[in-house]
Amino acid sequence: MPQTSKDPVALRSIIVLLGGPGSGKGTHGQALAAALGYEHLSSGEQLRDHIRRATPLGLQAKGLIENGQLVPDDLASELIHGLLAGYSNVRSFVLDGYPRSLAQAKALEQIVAAVGGTVTQALYLAISDDEIVRRLSGRLTCKTCGKTFHESSNPSARAGLCDRCGGELFRRIDDEPATIRRRIAVFHHAIDPLLAFYRETGRLAEVPAEGPVAEVSARVIARAKRGGEGCEGAPVQ
Ligand code: AMP
Repeated sequence: MPQTSKDPVALRSIIVLLGGPGSGKGTHGQALAAALGYEHLSSGEQLRDHIRRATPLGLQAKGLIENGQLVPDDLASELIHGLLAGYSNVRSFVLDGYPRSLAQAKALEQIVAAVGGTVTQALYLAISDDEIVRRLSGRLTCKTCGKTFHESSNPSARAGLCDRCGGELFRRIDDEPATIRRRIAVFHHAIDPLLAFYRETGRLAEVPAEGPVAEVSARVIARAKRGGEGCEGAPVQ
């Protein structure tokens, strides 16, 4: 049945998480979604799933991702549009990894208008480049559920196996040192216009994202619950 403006699921809140590679968008995004009762959607996870399934999108994205580059804006936006439109019974989302450019942020405004919703907040997880390198160079990811560990600062209980589902842990191909450096450069190139876009519309909040995982998650959740109050920049018109 088509949605109408009276449909209870037609009005969705979308929180976007911005931040460099390894800033914790996945970890804190999941915690935030659980705390708010939102759905957590990771563009990177979705793209890796397309690669595993060797879909046309996966085949297009594979080389770029493995090289530390972004997939084209229109592909990323089509992916997110399809996903948001497909969840007919989910009210609200935490978006992790999308938007990653100003063009994507602008596309998202159109997408949420089309699916009946609004981007209420952009939370920027701020960490230093040195911390990005430290985190990514020791990161291990579960092949089955996507949970991440760190070789030294957050090892799994059984070496090579996921604590949550028992799946096999692996090092993402884009977590190799040369690719990490490229991903950091790509991130710096895109982030300033993206931050300016959300700052100018009064929706940006910066959250210091170094320190113990549970503390940072609590900070992210508290910031999201405070909503637009105290966000940097001018209020939304
Ligand atoms: P992530 O899991 O968020 O670190 O994303 C892994 C990789 O997927 C990135 O380095 C990009 O190559 C690609 N990717 C994820 N999200 C996007 C996006 N919104 N736009 C373009 N490429 C993306």
